[in-house]
Amino acid sequence: MDYFAEMEARIPKNEVRTRFAPSPTGYMHVGNLRTALYTYLIARNLGGKFLLRIEDTDQDRFVEGATDVIYKTMKECSLKHDEGPDIGGPVGPYVQTERRPIYGKYAELLIEKGAAYRCFCTKERLEELHAADPTAKYDGFCSRLSQEEIDEKLAAGIPYVIRQKIPAEGTTTFSDAVFGDITVPNETLDDNVLIKSDGLPTYNFANVIDDHLMGITHVVRGSEYLSSAPKYNLLYQAFGWEIPTYVHCSPVMRDSQHKMSKRHGDPSYEDLIAEGYLTEAVVNYVALLGWSPGGEQEIYDLDGLVKAFDIKGISKSPAVFDKTKLTWMNSEYIKALPADEFYTRALPYIGLNNPNLDLKAIAALVQSRCEVLTDIHDRVDFFDELPDYDIQMYVHKKMKTTLENSLESLNAVLPIFEALEDWSESGVHDALFSLVEKLGVKNGLILWPVRVALSGKQMTPGGAVEIAAILGKEESIRRLKDGIARLS
Ligand code: GLU
Repeated sequence: MDYFAEMEARIPKNEVRTRFAPSPTGYMHVGNLRTALYTYLIARNLGGKFLLRIEDTDQDRFVEGATDVIYKTMKECSLKHDEGPDIGGPVGPYVQTERRPIYGKYAELLIEKGAAYRCFCTKERLEELHAADPTAKYDGFCSRLSQEEIDEKLAAGIPYVIRQKIPAEGTTTFSDAVFGDITVPNETLDDNVLIKSDGLPTYNFANVIDDHLMGITHVVRGSEYLSSAPKYNLLYQAFGWEIPTYVHCSPVMRDSQHKMSKRHGDPSYEDLIAEGYLTEAVVNYVALLGWSPGGEQEIYDLDGLVKAFDIKGISKSPAVFDKTKLTWMNSEYIKALPADEFYTRALPYIGLNNPNLDLKAIAALVQSRCEVLTDIHDRVDFFDELPDYDIQMYVHKKMKTTLENSLESLNAVLPIFEALEDWSESGVHDALFSLVEKLGVKNGLILWPVRVALSGKQMTPGGAVEIAAILGKEESIRRLKDGIARLS
């Protein structure tokens, strides 16, 4: 078997195969995460394989540790790949710089087929070409060299690139699952570089070679590649290869005008996690950015997404990243977590120093009252230390409390707290409510001042009873006395 037949023989047949093909940039854009997710969902929904391929041929953009970010994000998001650089597979290597010899062989084959040619043009000549019109196409000069001229230049060791030879006439049509059929005149297409002078392929070449040799059936990527798709089709046709299903996704926007961009301060996946969003909520939200399952349901876990996903639901129009919506979704995910799980996740964010506090009870109190994990500390910091507060906080219109009657209430509660032996939540509850009953007053008249005295805050997770139970008898009494002193 020759080299090419051997390569063909490796390709798994009769299965859906998708790939996520990130370039290691050092962070995961929201748009990248969405591409990874859709790629994964298509494979899983159709019972196929999901591959990870690292596209690192742009050595100028090399960032140390950047592939780790990719692995880490995919793992956190549970986007488990079936083949990839770390686990191998039948069509590896899965890192483009490790595939360098493969591209060279296929570029030579393409030259033989007359669909590519060596270009020896100097940088100066190309600069001149573009000086008048920076968007000017390459003029095809080297495609017209005779074999003798080419041999001479090769013998002289003149460096060259390999360019795609676009037919001068006719049109090329390609089909996209999201955008439909698109036809372009060939004269608008450039003879792009396929292999650079350093021997490494450009994206334009590598994506076609790899997608074919890896048996990819569905190519999911950003719509910035849409305009190049006709050129890719010409390559597939030149090789006589089957063209995969293209699924180009519209960009994720910051607003109606601007794409999201890390450079302009828009959050990446890691930024969102650092801001206190849960991975599951981000994944759910990102899935709905430009894809609609149809119907009203918005909360989907990953399995739910796998079942519901359908390429037909992907939208052509750009999706706007709506942080308010994500925040709402996040709070729904937080509320839905089992208490123990929330406690584990909340722990790094609670940030309280007093070792006597029951952090589990505090977490339970705050679970339904935070939108992002980073909200937690500010909601519960009063447990550590009573903040200095404005006594006007005791005045509450709805509770009908004034400075005077608040002082009376605190004075009435103090001896009851001092005498109370059962300092459990129900113990505190019963003690306070017996007092309310005995005095024949509205609950708020007692509970509001006690809550203010215990927390020094206008808003707290939980009311007077829960807060007192967590603070403990001694500290509750100390804070009550502090309140009495402030009001006296
Ligand atoms: N490496 C390309 C990128 O990160 C991937 C494009 C593709 O999926 O084909 O944008």
